[in-house]
Amino acid sequence: MINITLPDGSVREYAKGTSALNIAKSISEGLARNVLAAKINGEVRDANRPIDTDASLQLLTWNDAEGKSTMWHSSAHLMAEAFEQFYPGVKFGIGPPVDHGFYYDIDLGEHKITPEDFKKIEDKMLELARKANNYVRKEVSKEEAIKYFTEKGDEYKLDLLKDLTDGTITFYTQGEFTDLCRGPHIPDTGFIKAAKLMNIAGAYWRGDESKKQLTRIYGITFPKQKELTEYLEMLEEAKKRDHRKIGKELELFTFNEHVGPGLPLWMPNGTVIIEELEKLAKRTELLAGYQRVRTPHITKESMYITSGHLPYYADSMYPPMILEGEKYYLKPMNCPHHHQIFAEMNPSYKELPIRLAEYGTCYRYEQSGELFGLMRVRCLQMNDAHIYCSKAQFADEFRAVNDMYLKYFKIFGIDKYVMRFSTHEPSKLGKKYVDNSELWLQTEDMVRNVLIDSNIPYIEVPDEGAFYGPKIDVQVWSAIGREFTLATNQVDFAIPAKFGLTYRNAQNELETPICIHRAPLGTHERFIGFLIEHYAGNFPLWLAPKQVSILPVSEKYNDYAKKVSRLLNNSDIRALVDERNEKIGKKIRDAEIKKVPYMLVVGEKEELENAVAVRKHGHGDQGSLAVDEFITSLRKEIEEMLSN
Ligand SMILES: [Zn+2]
Ligand SMILES: [Zn+2]
Repeated sequence: MINITLPDGSVREYAKGTSALNIAKSISEGLARNVLAAKINGEVRDANRPIDTDASLQLLTWNDAEGKSTMWHSSAHLMAEAFEQFYPGVKFGIGPPVDHGFYYDIDLGEHKITPEDFKKIEDKMLELARKANNYVRKEVSKEEAIKYFTEKGDEYKLDLLKDLTDGTITFYTQGEFTDLCRGPHIPDTGFIKAAKLMNIAGAYWRGDESKKQLTRIYGITFPKQKELTEYLEMLEEAKKRDHRKIGKELELFTFNEHVGPGLPLWMPNGTVIIEELEKLAKRTELLAGYQRVRTPHITKESMYITSGHLPYYADSMYPPMILEGEKYYLKPMNCPHHHQIFAEMNPSYKELPIRLAEYGTCYRYEQSGELFGLMRVRCLQMNDAHIYCSKAQFADEFRAVNDMYLKYFKIFGIDKYVMRFSTHEPSKLGKKYVDNSELWLQTEDMVRNVLIDSNIPYIEVPDEGAFYGPKIDVQVWSAIGREFTLATNQVDFAIPAKFGLTYRNAQNELETPICIHRAPLGTHERFIGFLIEHYAGNFPLWLAPKQVSILPVSEKYNDYAKKVSRLLNNSDIRALVDERNEKIGKKIRDAEIKKVPYMLVVGEKEELENAVAVRKHGHGDQGSLAVDEFITSLRKEIEEMLSN
């Protein structure tokens, strides 16, 4: 018999050689019907493979990222099978899962394919899927594998085989298709209920421009037709809300060839959003006991050697510049600078925790092919802070950081979020992870307890912690259900020691603090990119670049409009007069297009009564108000939005 430990900590006994699928059946038939793969001692494997030793087991379904990627990888095999039926003799490169779906690199030979061919391939995939063919794993010798693909005439698989060691090679077969693959795969094709090919691209074999260009076909599959429909609707909506498109329409930011790729220029409207976000962060951090610091953008090489950025992170840094015989680097992160400030403060335990905050600008070298609007840039402004605390203070500090996240989620109307809590793997201490088992277990426990206490949805991901401590990636979903990773929150019990950071404890001895790296609002670039999609450019009043547009019905009332504008500005409301000699209808339409939250129409009657006729974006006429009443109601509306 073997002992199987389930994620809830319970241990059950099973006969040696049982499979994850059988274990699922012993729990419930319904569960078993949804099992796509299994995580056994931290490794994702086929659900039907025998388990021979005591093991920890997590059953993976469509709700798990690894369940999804196993199904998508299996779908790549299914697509390949369909391709072979239409285009005999095609050859296959690699076919991995990606964030949303999968692709396969295919050498089509003399065949051509266009998006018009997608439908027949999708239909064929579903026809094959309905046969519920098993994905059958087979261990093969290298010789046997070479023989198979030589006979098949697939030079790409033969090329891949060169790098593989005899004794580790496996084939997977479903229906009439056999692939060289290490797996894992779903139990059978019947799980795939909806399929859609998305895109065609070119891809050089092994990413090498001197090699042949293959055809990369992207696809996605789902366990229910309804999910595919929803996914396609979401993509359609995301296209409308594309942050690059809306960013241009609303004049938020721009890129310029003289400045360089990945280096956004923030225009006046975008800068308002940045400054409002910083105001919110500064106020929130002030109330939470943070102190603000400022640090330079360039720094000497020696600091990045101490921090470990050089040489490990050098690829992501800008090349150095040489000044007075010293190498200087643009900073890729703010942490080392904050550590130096902490060292200079030389605190006693009474002064802890010390929370140092900065909207720090960092520079990272991203390859030009990876750059994407505001989502992948080379210059980023980070909502950064480092909290230095004792072990005893850690849980409270971590809880406070979480509360801050939750407060922000409320303000921004983010209803769906999950924290991905990455922990260490004991067998990799000293290699992948700092060798301090006790601290790992202690801090992981504390983090887990805080997450449970605060009722925060989280998933625990073993063996994905950072080198120096557990890590929490915060994933949020925009209003249209698209997922973003916004921020990372890390516990660090190694780097402070590397920097020789200490505080004097109650016994007047030197102790190393724990450090929490946190950035709830991520970077301005990524966060605003997210907000643009989330709000479809309809920023809430407090964030809107222009809050009020004042629209005189004719030029005669421009002076009164300007007077109203000054009164609003005096109360910190961003108002602008539309002085153009245009019809009022046109002025209203233009303000609506620019998504200005309030429009104030002013004419003879308004001037006489010292009033404004209020229109709300998307809601039309709101009636007339005295100017001071309007200001009071607007201030109140803004404060309510931020007082969550
Ligand atoms: Zn495969
Ligand atoms: Zn940091």
